[in-house]
Amino acid sequence: MPAAAVCAGTKTQRQSETANMSESYRAFHQRSIESPEAFWSEQAAMIDWQTAPTRIMDADTPPFVRWFVGGKTNLCHNAIDRHLADRADQPALIHVSTETGTERTFTFRQLHEEVQRTAACLLELGVTKGDRVLIYMPMIPEAAFAMLACARIGAIHCVVFGGFASGALASRIDDATPKVIVSSDAGSRGGKVTAYKPLLDEAIRLSTHKPDAVLLADRGLAPMALVPGRDHLAADMAARVKSTEVACTWLDATDVSYTIYTSGTTGRPKGVQRDVGGYAVALAASMRHIFDGRAGDTYFSTSDIGWVVGHSYIIYGPLLAGMATLMYEGLPTQGMDGQPDGAIWWRLVEKYKVTVMFSAPTAVRVLKKQDPALLKKHDLSSLRALFLAGEPLDEPTARWISDGLGVPIIDNYWQTESGWPIITLANGVEHMATKFGSPGVPMYGYKVKVVHEATGEELTAPGEKGVVVIEGPTPPGFMQTVWNDDARFVNTYWKSIPGRMAYSTFDWGIRDADGYFYILGRTDDVINVAGHRLGTREIEECISGHAQVAEVAVVGVADALKGQVAMAFAVPKDAGALTDAGRARSLEGEVMKRVNDELGAVARPSRVMFVAALPKTRSGKLLRRAIQAVCERRDPGDLSTMDDPASLESIRRQLDL
Ligand code: ATP
Ligand code: MG
Repeated sequence: MPAAAVCAGTKTQRQSETANMSESYRAFHQRSIESPEAFWSEQAAMIDWQTAPTRIMDADTPPFVRWFVGGKTNLCHNAIDRHLADRADQPALIHVSTETGTERTFTFRQLHEEVQRTAACLLELGVTKGDRVLIYMPMIPEAAFAMLACARIGAIHCVVFGGFASGALASRIDDATPKVIVSSDAGSRGGKVTAYKPLLDEAIRLSTHKPDAVLLADRGLAPMALVPGRDHLAADMAARVKSTEVACTWLDATDVSYTIYTSGTTGRPKGVQRDVGGYAVALAASMRHIFDGRAGDTYFSTSDIGWVVGHSYIIYGPLLAGMATLMYEGLPTQGMDGQPDGAIWWRLVEKYKVTVMFSAPTAVRVLKKQDPALLKKHDLSSLRALFLAGEPLDEPTARWISDGLGVPIIDNYWQTESGWPIITLANGVEHMATKFGSPGVPMYGYKVKVVHEATGEELTAPGEKGVVVIEGPTPPGFMQTVWNDDARFVNTYWKSIPGRMAYSTFDWGIRDADGYFYILGRTDDVINVAGHRLGTREIEECISGHAQVAEVAVVGVADALKGQVAMAFAVPKDAGALTDAGRARSLEGEVMKRVNDELGAVARPSRVMFVAALPKTRSGKLLRRAIQAVCERRDPGDLSTMDDPASLESIRRQLDL
């Protein structure tokens, strides 16, 4: 039975499905844990190797793991060159921008040419293997060319989310110390153009490290003043370089492919370092076992190349699998003519026959504010599944999109650090039942446990709450270390649980009797009300079930009497609750009653306040720590990745009323 039907079924039905259907995935997972070398050596056959590895796994110096030691390969070769024999004229990169009203398709052959051209420019600028190239780009094809060109010549790319302010960019320039920066004149969001070049110039002025050169794609959106001797227009440079054939540099599997920063939700972002061979194998395996991505099909991830999802599932994963990847620039609710269009993504699914789609709960919540009929306007018969990741997927949101699209909605739990899903359903191995509120079960290669955060003791009873940890050796694709900071890697991630050497996800979770995990929020976000420990997510989930609530954040705020109390900030569907004090009061009362009835009085927030928007990172994650700091009149800390500062201000104002 397809998971969609299971999704729509009752809880009892779903549970009996689980019991019958999960056996073979369980065996698959068990083999990956008991015989990791045999398991991953099989997976490694999914990619091309120039030299086969001599040792599959070296876990001699925990927590560090080296995968496919002695092997030589190249991510760009596997993403492009290896497909030329069979699918040179098949679409590889489809770029759609509702910001500029443009659509372009590059076949594998054309992508091969473009990437070599960019690689030739980087070589001309003196970039060699191991050099860092920082990419500060909007979602345009040139950004993909630059990433793949780095992979081709063995340069380490460091993509920084386009549009980050100069200070955030400067600290990343100092951390990555790039030889070259690749950028563009401007990005655009909702029709508003942001000139990148002045932001970049200011960042380079602020940084201690200075790049040798800046390579710029000119989209014609904003004027650029070039710094002589340092700045180069990509088009001019491409015309100047003589050879447009650049062979792949064969890299050690354990060489560094890229660094990427975490979202900065809980504090100063960490520079995650990833390898070449392990990552290629992990992604190829995930395309088969998790996403069921088939060569020739189209994959559409709505993420941004600035995030790990963009690296793994806009650029590398789909291309490794021989799929076309759809790269989208624009809001989820904007048409090709720049006018509002809540059905644009579904229009693209129909037009490009998208089979696998990947997005985030935050995007679905944006769509939820639109007319549900928009989900039915287009032919979505090509679509096999929608994967969602990045944040807890609350049941009302999952149901809404599941009912609307009629395809399985698969929650994915993972982190920048892991590079690919940690907990989800491996439907390519076996169809397992979806349970609302749970991303699923640990993926092959991952030994996931729930432990007591103070004693490190494993909690095995169903429903016992603890910290979700991963025991080493971590699988291929997982971070190698923190860039330039092995000590931070070991101390931050592996030594936070007393008495246990395990990687902490810093997320709080439980496991049910069937082995399904539920993520209850971040360990920082646990609220302790008079000795009762509550995950913010549980309260948020309950509040978001109220028909009038579009979105909600719950934080724990210090309280002299109870230790902490919960406070809720909600975006109402009816904007009237924002301006009409009477309506706000009655909605607040209803929300409190709901929490009281469903979770009990301890969980009831002391206040429910209504705001037009919640503070989020640029990747759409709720910045609860910032809300909490404002509520407690503390300094909110590093806000370099915050999207809309006005939203935090409006919370501050509400509190002062
Ligand atoms: P930082 O580590 O800098 O504080 P971050 O943790 O938000 O930022 P990411 O690596 O982008 O950076 O996000 C990973 C986190 O997102 C997870 O640890 C978890 O808290 C949350 N998350 C991701 N997917 C899910 C999911 N499906 N369900 C619940 N939470 C999720
Ligand atoms: Mg994190």
